[in-house]
Amino acid sequence: MTLLEVSDLRVSYGPIDAVKGVSLSVERGDVVAIVGPNGAGKSSTMLAIQGLVRARSGSVRWRGRDITGWAPERRARAGISFVPESRGVFRTLSIGENLRLAGCALAKGADVAERVGLALRHFPALADRLSERAAVLSGGECQQLAIGRALVAAPDLLVLDEPSLGLAPVVLDELFAALAALRDEGLTILLVEQNVGRAVKLADHLFSLRGGVIERVDEPAELLRDPALRARHLGMG
Ligand code: ATP
Repeated sequence: MTLLEVSDLRVSYGPIDAVKGVSLSVERGDVVAIVGPNGAGKSSTMLAIQGLVRARSGSVRWRGRDITGWAPERRARAGISFVPESRGVFRTLSIGENLRLAGCALAKGADVAERVGLALRHFPALADRLSERAAVLSGGECQQLAIGRALVAAPDLLVLDEPSLGLAPVVLDELFAALAALRDEGLTILLVEQNVGRAVKLADHLFSLRGGVIERVDEPAELLRDPALRARHLGMG
């Protein structure tokens, strides 16, 4: 079943055309990665999917409904949870408060404590530190909290903008292991990632964006199997 369908999306900032006709779709249970260099239009695509920038033309459909004009919070309530590049945690609040606050988006009567417990299952290191302020967290822990907050909202689609940004390789191992576990549980994930090697190991489909257009679409399993493709596209010999 197609959850998200982006068709011929265009995003402009004044005279700058950042996204020039991007089309992609995300099936339920899939992990889709968007890779590409700086300025390729990856973040703009993600922001338009979330309703945080306006699409100049084209459409975004969610479960078959045209949501192009919907406000971000309406998309969130409909099941799309977004973790921005800036992570968006409240530094002055405790880890527990950050997680419980994310539960505000849940339907009335939902068990917030239960949802927080489920989110923490993926990030047990946070579970022992619920009363600590988020400001004390390292970059990797902060990313865990940001994803944890998104999970509290019980999303149908988790959207991540550059989760690996600024994180050390050992921290990335842990983060991508958590994302792989979420994928294996059936969560649908759309992520922007500059670290192509990591994206390839996680994703079912890889869209390479350059200059605001999709340059190529790959099946990571195929890329990883074929040594020539690995060398050519991933720099992995
Ligand atoms: P990065 O990895 O550097 O974030 P990206 O692939 O996510 O790059 P975007 O951030 O979407 O790319 O940027 C695409 C283009 O749009 C770039 O030329 C960028 O300078 C421009 N751009 C992005 N945001 C704005 C803005 N708010 N105002 C003007 N131009 C912008």
